[in-house]
Amino acid sequence: TMAEQGFEDLQLSQNLPFTENFGENLFELPNDILQKDGITPAASTVPVTTDYPGECGFQLRFQKSGTAKSVTSTYSEVLNKLYCQLAKTSPIEVLVSKEPPQGAVLRATAVYKKTEHVADVVRRCPHHQNEDPVEHRSHLIRVEGNQRAQYFEDLHTKRQSVTVPYEPPQLGSEMTTILLSFMCNSSCMGGMNRRPILTILTLETPEGLVLGRRCFEVRVCACPGRDRKTEEDNKQKKESGTKEAKKRKSAPPPDTTSTKKSKCTSSAEGDDKEVFLLPVRGRERYEMLKKINDGLELLDKDSKSKSKVSVKHEVPVPSSGKRLLQRGERSDSD
Ligand SMILES: [Zn+2]
Repeated sequence: TMAEQGFEDLQLSQNLPFTENFGENLFELPNDILQKDGITPAASTVPVTTDYPGECGFQLRFQKSGTAKSVTSTYSEVLNKLYCQLAKTSPIEVLVSKEPPQGAVLRATAVYKKTEHVADVVRRCPHHQNEDPVEHRSHLIRVEGNQRAQYFEDLHTKRQSVTVPYEPPQLGSEMTTILLSFMCNSSCMGGMNRRPILTILTLETPEGLVLGRRCFEVRVCACPGRDRKTEEDNKQKKESGTKEAKKRKSAPPPDTTSTKKSKCTSSAEGDDKEVFLLPVRGRERYEMLKKINDGLELLDKDSKSKSKVSVKHEVPVPSSGKRLLQRGERSDSD
C-alpha cells in the first residue's frame, strides 16, 4: 500500500546518513561541514539534565492551567512535570536576570528519564512520522509560531533538538514565551513506548556554549488534567504514607481504586446496604418470608464476624455439563 511504501522510504532515508557516516573518518570531518550543518561540535553522548541558571539567571515559568478535564496542557509545580496532549501547544515562559549575548539561542532537547533508557534517542513513533509530510517529522519536540525555528540532528549522537533565537522580552513584559508541542503520546508504540522523558531547555551562545539549563519531565497523554491530579495525589499519599509508617510500624496506604469504584458504579458489593420493600399477600406467607429473611440477616451477622477468616468457596465441578450437552445434541439432531 501507499502507506507502507511511505514507511519504507522513511526508514531508508533515516538509515542512509547513519551508514554513510559510520566510517573510519567519522571524526575527521572538516569543521566547516559541522558548522554549515549547524551542529554543535562538542556534543556529549548523554545530555546533562541538571538545572543551571548560570550568569544570566535562566529560569522557566509555566502558566497555571489547573487540572480541569478540558485542559490541554498543565504543569505540576510539585512534580516539575508538564502534562500535555499530543500536538497541543504548551506555552513556556523564559526569564533571565541578565540579557544573554547577541545571537543567543534557546534549544529544546528530549531525553529519556530512566538510566536504562537514557542512551536511546527520543524520536517520534513510526506511525506518527509516517503520516506527517514535514521535513522534521521525526522530531518529538516542535516549536510553534516561530519562523526561525531550526531542527537539528547531531551527526554523532543522532540526538534531535530544535532551536529558536532568544528574543528579549517585549516592552512592558518581563519574559519571553516559547510555544512547544510534543508530537507523540508517551504511550506511542515504537516511540516513547511509556518511557518517561525529560525536556532540556538550554540558553546557548551562537557558538553552542551553554549559558543556562532547565529541565522538566513531560508526559504526553489524553487527559493531562486527570493524570496530573492522580500523580500529585499519589506523591502526597506516598509522603504521608512514609510519615505514617514512621509513627506506626505497618500501615498500608489506603486503596483509592476501590473507594473510587464504589463511588462511580453501583456495584454488587453496595447492594446489601440498600433496603427493598416487598408486598406480601397473607399473614402466613409473610411470617414464612420473614423467617427466611431473619435467617439470612443472622447469617450475614455471623459471616461478618468471621470475615477476617478467609472462607474458601469450593466450586464443585458441574457434573451436569456433560448431560446438558448430550441433551442439546440430541435435540439438534431431532
Ligand atoms: Zn507516536
